[in-house]
Amino acid sequence: MKFGGTSVGSAQRMKEVAGIVAKEGKNIIVLSAMSGTTNTLLEISDYLHKRNPDGANEIINMLELKYLREIEDLFESKEYKIQTLEVIKSHFDHIRSFTKKVFTLFEEKVIVAQGELLSSVMFTNYLKEKGLNAVLLPALEFMRINKNAEPDQNYLREHLNALLQQHQDADVYITQGFICLNAYGEIDNLQRGGSDYTASLIGAAVKAKEIQIWTDIDGMHNNDPRIVDNTSPVSFLNFDEAAELAYFGAKILHPTCILPAKLEKIPVRLLNTTKPDAKGTTISNKSEKHKIKAVAAKDNITAIRIKSGRMLLAYGFLRRVFEIFESYRTPVDMVCTSEVGISMTIDNNKHLKEILDELKKIGTVSVDRDMVIICVVGDLTWDNIGFEAKVVEALKDIPVRMISYGGSNYNISLLVKAEDKKRSLIALSEQLFK
Ligand code: ADP
Ligand code: ASP
Ligand code: MG
Repeated sequence: MKFGGTSVGSAQRMKEVAGIVAKEGKNIIVLSAMSGTTNTLLEISDYLHKRNPDGANEIINMLELKYLREIEDLFESKEYKIQTLEVIKSHFDHIRSFTKKVFTLFEEKVIVAQGELLSSVMFTNYLKEKGLNAVLLPALEFMRINKNAEPDQNYLREHLNALLQQHQDADVYITQGFICLNAYGEIDNLQRGGSDYTASLIGAAVKAKEIQIWTDIDGMHNNDPRIVDNTSPVSFLNFDEAAELAYFGAKILHPTCILPAKLEKIPVRLLNTTKPDAKGTTISNKSEKHKIKAVAAKDNITAIRIKSGRMLLAYGFLRRVFEIFESYRTPVDMVCTSEVGISMTIDNNKHLKEILDELKKIGTVSVDRDMVIICVVGDLTWDNIGFEAKVVEALKDIPVRMISYGGSNYNISLLVKAEDKKRSLIALSEQLFK
């Protein structure tokens, strides 16, 4: 069971989560940092990178005050209050110690890890105060990534199972999401939003019956609820549909978290902490025929077109184009080809200039920035008649730069301008779900 930032965002929310956890019996609980904390820790790091310890200290003091208030609200007994305060203070002393040192990315990762360390100790102590035998399993003792930043599943399985063996009489296990050690034994993390990934890696490692991602909404909605009104939860998704939605912008789920569950065939359920009885979304390997499930959007996309007479009737041209992206370690999301040209999208402009310089050696290149990929997900096998027509019809008044269909059985992607994102999403909801 993974509880995200908003689910543990205040003492009150932690108490509600404790209620859910106590009811469910013996489980492994993965916690995020309290909402806002990771951003604040990054802000502190930013001041330290800019060599402004006073700026950093001011924010550290504010953050510490917030935690002191939450602890005051969370615990009833003096004993647990004092015990938790001591641990929290030691974490803040540790954060403060960085204001006096050289500051690099390595120190930043140590600071950013404090959020999950704080929330997990508070929550474990709260469960103990309530009389549960809650055991805190330090993620840094079993969660590890290798030199390519990929999780080491063997290390995880071995070390986590050993810890579970040591604490067989526990009522419940708590651990931190997001944080890990890297190949050099330094503190690192699984990228922003990575607690979902921790949960599915753990679920796969212990062959859990189910992986539950608890958040502030009742499952995956059929469109982005931050942008479109009257969206509704989708009851079932298969692993591929969920992965497409997560990758193409449905923030509720971290894109990496589907694969470990899919490989072990463990269902993933998306549930709502504030409405624990809502059925949410179940993600499994079951497919539902003839249904369009949901729409998502991915921002900050750059489209690149390369045209070349040399592509005409030639082989090897596409390979040369893609090798350029590969050499700059830049993933390509969408691809559309014609006989004389190819359009691709990327979401990482770090090496855009170098990539364009290389592409210009083999063709005529043009670039469109500030684009958005709109992704429609569901049973989109090609022999389902009319589904792609419905999608295109919805966007009939909107300029569409690229359309990609047939790459998988589960999606159609369309590229539009950022300024057209909102009306595209609304138009698709009107057309597909009303
Ligand atoms: P947590 O802190 O629990 O990890 P997140 O903020 O990462 O929660 O994810 C939950 C949020 O994802 C929701 O509050 C919602 O605004 C957003 N979201 C974006 N797209 C969707 C979608 N298709 N369905 C549900 N939630 C979505
Ligand atoms: N706390 C981390 C973040 O804010 C990880 C997570 O919440 O999933 O990105
Ligand atoms: Mg999240």
